[in-house]
Amino acid sequence: MVGIVIVSHSKQLAAGVRELAAQMVSGDVALAVAAGIDDPDNPLGTDAMQVYQAIESVYSDDGVVVLMDLGSALLSAEMALEFLTEEQCEKIYLCEAPLVEGAIAATISAAQLNSIEQVLAEARGALTAKAAQLGIDVISDTLISPQNPPLVNDREAKEHSRTDNPYTLQIQLTVANRLGLHARPAARFVTTAAKFQAQIRVRNVTRNTDFVQANSINQVATLGVRQGHEIAIAATGIDAEAALAALQELVTNNFGEDDSDLIPTVIDSSETVEGELLGIPASSGVAIAPIFQYRPTTVQVEEYIVEDTANEWQRIQTAIQTATQDLQSLQSANQLGDKAEIFSAHLLVLQDPALLEPVHQRIFSHHQNAEFAWKSTIDELAHNFDTLEDAYLQERANDITDVGQRVLRSLRGITTPTIELTQPSIVVATDLSPSDTAQLDTTKVLGICTTRGSATSHTAILARSLGIPAVVGVPAAILHLANGTLLAIDGASGKVWLEPDTDTIARLQARRNAGLQARQHAQVTAHQPAITRDRKRVTIAANIGSVAEAKIAIKNGADGVGLLRTEFLYLNRTTAPTEEEQFAVYQAIAEVLDRRALIVRTLDIGGDKPLDYLGLRAESNPFLGKRGIRFCLEHQDIFKTQLRAILRASHGHQIKIMFPMVATVQEVQAAKAILAQVQTQLRQANIPFDESMQVGIMVETPSAVAIADQLATEIDFFSIGTNDLSQYVMAADRTNSQVAMLADALHPAILRSIEQTVQAAHSSGIWVGLCGELAADTLATPILVGLGLDELSLNSQAIPMVKRAVSELSTVEAEAIAQRALKLDSANRVRELVSSFYTNEEVERKTQR
Ligand code: PEP
Ligand code: MG
Repeated sequence: MVGIVIVSHSKQLAAGVRELAAQMVSGDVALAVAAGIDDPDNPLGTDAMQVYQAIESVYSDDGVVVLMDLGSALLSAEMALEFLTEEQCEKIYLCEAPLVEGAIAATISAAQLNSIEQVLAEARGALTAKAAQLGIDVISDTLISPQNPPLVNDREAKEHSRTDNPYTLQIQLTVANRLGLHARPAARFVTTAAKFQAQIRVRNVTRNTDFVQANSINQVATLGVRQGHEIAIAATGIDAEAALAALQELVTNNFGEDDSDLIPTVIDSSETVEGELLGIPASSGVAIAPIFQYRPTTVQVEEYIVEDTANEWQRIQTAIQTATQDLQSLQSANQLGDKAEIFSAHLLVLQDPALLEPVHQRIFSHHQNAEFAWKSTIDELAHNFDTLEDAYLQERANDITDVGQRVLRSLRGITTPTIELTQPSIVVATDLSPSDTAQLDTTKVLGICTTRGSATSHTAILARSLGIPAVVGVPAAILHLANGTLLAIDGASGKVWLEPDTDTIARLQARRNAGLQARQHAQVTAHQPAITRDRKRVTIAANIGSVAEAKIAIKNGADGVGLLRTEFLYLNRTTAPTEEEQFAVYQAIAEVLDRRALIVRTLDIGGDKPLDYLGLRAESNPFLGKRGIRFCLEHQDIFKTQLRAILRASHGHQIKIMFPMVATVQEVQAAKAILAQVQTQLRQANIPFDESMQVGIMVETPSAVAIADQLATEIDFFSIGTNDLSQYVMAADRTNSQVAMLADALHPAILRSIEQTVQAAHSSGIWVGLCGELAADTLATPILVGLGLDELSLNSQAIPMVKRAVSELSTVEAEAIAQRALKLDSANRVRELVSSFYTNEEVERKTQR
């Protein structure tokens, strides 16, 4: 059997390619990997000795195909040949095919015990199949060369293009599986065909293609067989009948694929609950209108080498300038009001030296063209955000990509696409960028429905500011509905109705009116303090991450900031932010707040966050690793810089400091000791700061809850982080969708932890807030007020409704609800309990975000 070696700079990439390739075949294949280097600080690279050992491990007289990613991978592979004997070398082929496609095609071919020439031809032809699927004609100028003949022999293809050979048997079948003849199904088809001696060919009848060889993965893939297409299979030879029977069985058994977890392409409303789909509520309100399917296009780029690097750099500068002007005019667009501030963040991305520096380096050191240099840098950055555990930070990836595309369009001279609607509609898309959303014509876009996104994405925030009801994370089936299909969405509950009947429409319209009234009412009173009917005041503060968000918070009536996530300052750069940079941001936020309190949380970063410059090592359980205060106590230089910046900004402002992820009294004492050292240095240098600045901690570990009485004697306040506390109490990773349901902050186990913390705080005479997502859930408000929390800190958009919810309560009622909730045995029972105190309309209203 021909052996295959995958050479890559990245161990993970190579392992992924190997896994993907191995999945395509049922039996064993001689597949080896040579990837990464043995340097924990800099693991990306290739090593000739590793390549040699990989070749040795799969070597046989049948030969070895070596597939490489790029750059030094090629050099290492060439060097590896020097360790082999001359005779061995003749059987090793360094193959220019693209790594992923080439490895898969070669593996499938090798598994059929094909010759090295056939395996090579399949690998080299792998791009043809991909191009054909995308409708791109690349065969003419790139893939065909004297050394690399076309895969389909023209004459042979024409001869066999229709089968009229009397010894040929033929069947016609419908492909029913969701993915059609692609990837694994195609691989199974090819490997089944290859088991027979008969010559087997296949064609796509629906697309009226010619016949191609059924034992070539590339040729089969070029047929573009999709779900519902008819295919004809022709077999000539002694076992033709058996071959056709086997292929028929494979096709009728969906190629062994279980499609049950996939959404059907065509939605039969009888299959969903009363024609309903469920997504994530993103912007409250009801919309009923025909669908408009929006398919945003992204600018694709190719890499090429440039000589005139200065000119290329100039092109980038000009494109950034144009994008900046576009963003500035978007910002000043009236319809977005204060939410146009979101584009300030986009402008900051464009000015960020940490983004421009790698682009500069790619152009000047690697001679990459402007488009490629820009896109690669943007992709890396977006990926960094995407891999963070925090859903809010993950969503920033969407912003980065959006800015990136804006600059690419400007480089290419393409105008920004707009959504042109001929009638009032609900826009359905996989995702909408903040720019797409900002440009929506609110007179025609009545609702938004996307299959991706979360309630914390800027798209969702903008939809809320534009007053457009939105549901995100809707099952992908929605994308297959025809334009014009009537849809109803409820952005408060996340429900979507396909072709709703007249009763449903009437019910939804009534709810729409009630919701509108409630929001208008809440908005009017948003700037008043949240005081219960029996005169207890609860501070309603905002969770923010930037100056722009501080402004939004104030506009929404925030009494202050209960949580400033400072991680933003540290992400998306190559060195830690300086004291001056941090000072400027903290001071700017404090000034926006104008004497209102600002709680600055010190860096909550850990082994799971990819900050290369901090020298973080990957950890097998990052949530249980060096996070938050644990990290800062080990990296005192970084910690002290941040503390100095916060202290300096505290002068003349109401800043409080908060340490995250505390588990022990000793951690708090150590952090306070470092804070005291920094304060002494500032005093000695005559640098003013607020001497009476409060110091608090987040209570987000079960340990902190258990020893809350001890911790309370050390500090001035607690803020309960229910996002983390829920996952630690329930032992359910909040990012693992299989168990995330368990980490429900309304579970009595969490409520009891909150109660215990509040009691410990109040017994020690300190105040206690709550800044997890639970604070924004108005269904939870009676319980949180009833448990005695002094402050709730939440996303700015929810502030008016939470303030209103507080003002509707009396503490006596709230305490009674809270005490009953503590005795229940599940989060759902707690929801039922709270709901039972309200009418259906009120519950609908309270489930809004
Ligand atoms: C929390 O854990 O509840 C919290 C507010 O912090 P974060 O979500 O940033 O971890
Ligand atoms: Mg937390």
